[in-house]
Amino acid sequence: MSAPHIIGIDIGGTKCAACLARGGQIVRREDFPTADEPGPDAVLRRLAATAEGLLSRHRVPRERVIGVGVSCGGPLDPEEGLILSPPNLPGWDGVPARRILEQALSLPVRIENDANATAVAEWRLGAGRGFRSLAFLTVGTGIGAGLILDGKLYRGKAGLAGEVGHSTILPDGPLCRCGKRGCLEALASGSSIGRRAQAAAKEHPDSILAGRELTGRDVVEAARAGDALAREALLESARYLGIGIANLLQILDLERVILGTIAVHAGEEYLDAVRTSVREHCWPSICDGVEVVPCGLGDSAQDYAAISLWLE
Ligand SMILES: [Zn+2]
Repeated sequence: MSAPHIIGIDIGGTKCAACLARGGQIVRREDFPTADEPGPDAVLRRLAATAEGLLSRHRVPRERVIGVGVSCGGPLDPEEGLILSPPNLPGWDGVPARRILEQALSLPVRIENDANATAVAEWRLGAGRGFRSLAFLTVGTGIGAGLILDGKLYRGKAGLAGEVGHSTILPDGPLCRCGKRGCLEALASGSSIGRRAQAAAKEHPDSILAGRELTGRDVVEAARAGDALAREALLESARYLGIGIANLLQILDLERVILGTIAVHAGEEYLDAVRTSVREHCWPSICDGVEVVPCGLGDSAQDYAAISLWLE
């Protein structure tokens, strides 16, 4: 008997992808730019057609497929299968994604926000294997988290558990895109690293960073090349991220913290600064032995996120 198959669908602001997995391994993946299609209906229909194409090309009969997992930026309603106006998908307001995909593919569909789905993927297949309570934090344009507590994905009453990016770190700190001040996201996200380095470079016009718009990734690259300003901007962010993680540990007493996106590329000095800050701001009885590690699935985490929703 061959292992069961799963279809994974990733809906992103830039790209959408469908993949076919067998026994937890991705067999084949295809993507297209989200902007190629005029709206949510057309995107979902194309994703269903792409999945259909993968099944027929790999000669997988429908009864061999246990289900379709969908990972998409939040907010969304996993119970009702609705996508609710994610900031990176303008025009996707109350889209019944599960119903549309179930009708198109005649298969059961599970849908989860991308931070939660990636937390499940890391727990099942990546750096969280064998643990019962962990947090996965994505540190990119924003900061989001997925929480596995006592061996189960924790969603909270409205599916908003894990919005640690908007916990307050500095009450008089910089304005966050959510409207509050001093949120963790405004101090430690990739975008905030770019802004911090840009502000510092204004006072050092001879810096290689001066006079241009900077993303978190630009700063990571400059820091890797030995630029002192970039390094300092990155390390300051790491200290704030450590405070956010310490607060999370202090409340949830987790076994492990897994970091994605920028943390995967920023290098050991950044990770060490995060770890030092965690120890400074958390009780030893809570943080001793708790490792803060980069995600185990690396840049493929997104692909595994969707299929992991069916890996029970
Ligand atoms: Zn905020």
